[in-house]
Amino acid sequence: MILTIAWLYPELMSTYGDRGNVIIFSQRCRWRGIETSILRVDEKTTTRELLNADIILGGGAQDRQQSLVISDLRERKGKVLKDLFDAGKPGLFVCGSPQLLGHTYQMADGTVLKGLGIFDMETKHFGKDKPRCIGNLLCTLHTEALEEFSHEKPTIVGFENHGGRTYLGSGVVPFATVLYGKGNNGEDKTEGAVYKNCIATYSHGPFLSKNPHIADWLIARALNVKYAKDVVLAELDDVYAWKAHDQMFSRYLPKK
Ligand code: GLN
Repeated sequence: MILTIAWLYPELMSTYGDRGNVIIFSQRCRWRGIETSILRVDEKTTTRELLNADIILGGGAQDRQQSLVISDLRERKGKVLKDLFDAGKPGLFVCGSPQLLGHTYQMADGTVLKGLGIFDMETKHFGKDKPRCIGNLLCTLHTEALEEFSHEKPTIVGFENHGGRTYLGSGVVPFATVLYGKGNNGEDKTEGAVYKNCIATYSHGPFLSKNPHIADWLIARALNVKYAKDVVLAELDDVYAWKAHDQMFSRYLPKK
């Protein structure tokens, strides 16, 4: 079995270790004898190449990089990405990339970037005077938003650093509820969004390092769509990943 990972704009969109999500996804596949190949998506990538993707990963970026990739995304990649998502291909998009998958992102200088509108959400940066949302992020998952998610751990941990505030419309569901940190906007306790099998999140980390259940959910979804059969993934020894995950909870939300 082989999975092709489409990695969106690695040169421009990979802040705070988001490249780690690509490494972790590949390694967890390799440990189970599943091959991966990485398609580094940039303005030269053709529709045909992109259509081969079995999973799409996107990282964060600052406003400048976002404004550089948006026209290529809109003019050459938007329709294919929507088709891939609608076909059930999984994706994980962190911070700056999901801002571009929503309807609009208003940058810190007031310029509005028109996004792909795949995720029903809008993001607004209120300018340099409004404090950024920075720090560790602990949440409870909306497990019902994730098809066939069966792991017993209903929590996620990450690290956020964003100025944009995201507001969800009715066409998406939140990925999680904030227990500690800011999440989408610091107001309504929502964190991220889910569209089909695609996850938007403000959690860097790299996210998958402390959330192996989400890594495996993405692998299972990708195999399921590609090979059209129910896949049972071999268990891995995740004792240290879970220790890191749980440590964040005992540090920030100690049980009384
Ligand atoms: N430029 C965006 C913001 O500040 C995204 C930042 C990021 O990806 N970490 O909101």
